[in-house]
Parts: sequence; structure tokens; C-alpha cells
Amino acid sequence: MTIVLNQLPSTIQDSVARTRQRVSDLHAELPRNELVVWTAGNVSERVPGTDLFVIKPSGVSYDELAPEFMVVCTLDGTKIDDGTPDRLQPSSDTAAHAYVYRHMEEIGGVVHTHSTYATAWAARGEEIPCVLTMMGDEFGGAIPIGPFAIIGDDSIGRGIVETLKTSRSRAVLMQNHGPFTIGTDARDAVKAAVMCEEVARTVHIARQLGATIPIPPETIDRLFDRYQNVYGQH
Ligand SMILES: [Zn+2]
Repeated sequence: MTIVLNQLPSTIQDSVARTRQRVSDLHAELPRNELVVWTAGNVSERVPGTDLFVIKPSGVSYDELAPEFMVVCTLDGTKIDDGTPDRLQPSSDTAAHAYVYRHMEEIGGVVHTHSTYATAWAARGEEIPCVLTMMGDEFGGAIPIGPFAIIGDDSIGRGIVETLKTSRSRAVLMQNHGPFTIGTDARDAVKAAVMCEEVARTVHIARQLGATIPIPPETIDRLFDRYQNVYGQH
């Protein structure tokens, strides 16, 4: 049975509307931070307190996005009757986002891009080593490589979850494909996507003139702990 958005309780409809606004607004950060070309990147966010999430429609350019075009899906990746035009289907990466939400309950946001430097590491199947203090802060270590997987079943989602469950990183570079990032909400996942590309670029540039210097694991632990628990406006 299809879920109809305007038949849900008004509190849930309000929550969906706020999530659609956030997800629509956050998509502007992808071209602004030079993480995407054309329409190839997407942001999603779990609707708080529900088994729904909101994601970009497939094939719509970033400057045409508006909150009412954001597609609402159940956690199996099926579009609900959400008032968007029938021509608007959810992103082709929806199954991967849905798999993450089903298997990582604490995760509230997912971002996928093909940002250039992160994807270059993915093309080599090489993890980004933790050689910058900001990597220790943000990712708690190396940014890992996920398995080679193509669209069509749950293999991309499974690869993301299996890789990130054994890492402190909020970013995974899917081999030959590109980065997926996760966060407590969509904004946190977008930040991880921006930071992932930044460190991919810096470490790549560092490599051009010589070997990079590893940071000792116990120092990475201290950086990560301080940044996650002490830094900022708590
Ligand atoms: Zn992709």
C-alpha cells in the first residue's frame, strides 16, 4: 500500500517539509564547493522520528532544485505519494542511501559525489593515509576504500556499511566510483564530503614532491577524541 504524505499526521508532514527545505538548501553546497558536475551528486536526510528519508530527484540540475521537488522515500527506497510530479523519480543512488539508513540507525544524513581528487584515490583503490591533523580530527584515521560495486542491487549500500562499520571515518571511497559520506544529519554528511575532497587534494599534492609522514596512531586517537568531544561550541 502506497503511503500518502498528506494523509500522515500533521506533525510528520511538518517534519517532512522542514527536511525537504534542508536537503534542497544543502544541495547548493555541492557545486559551491566544486564537488559535482552536471547532476552527478546527491544529498539525503532521514526525517527525524520516522521511517522516511528525503533525497534529490534524479536528473534535475542544482539550480532548479526546490524543496517541493525533493523526493520522500521509505527506508526500502520506494517513493511515497509525496506530491512531486510523477516525472520526478528519486536519485539513481537511492537504494544505496536507503541501505545505509536501514543498517546504521544512528546515521541521519548521506552524501554521494564524484569529487575529483577523492575519486582519483578511488580509481587507484588506494585509501587516503592519515597524514594531516585535520584528518585525525574529522575522520579519526585513514579514509578507507570500499569494494567495487555497481548500481542494480544492494551491493553499493552493503559495501558502504561494511566498510564504515569497521572505521571511525565518515567517508568511504567506493573503488572505481567515488566517495559516500555519512553524518548525524545531512549537514554533517555534506561537511564530511567537503573535508574528504579537501584532504584528498592536499595529500595528493603532497605526494607529488615526496613521501608523506604518517601520524602515530595514539596521536590520531587524541586528535579525534579532542575534536569530537571538546572542540567547538558545546
Ligand atoms: Zn556515483
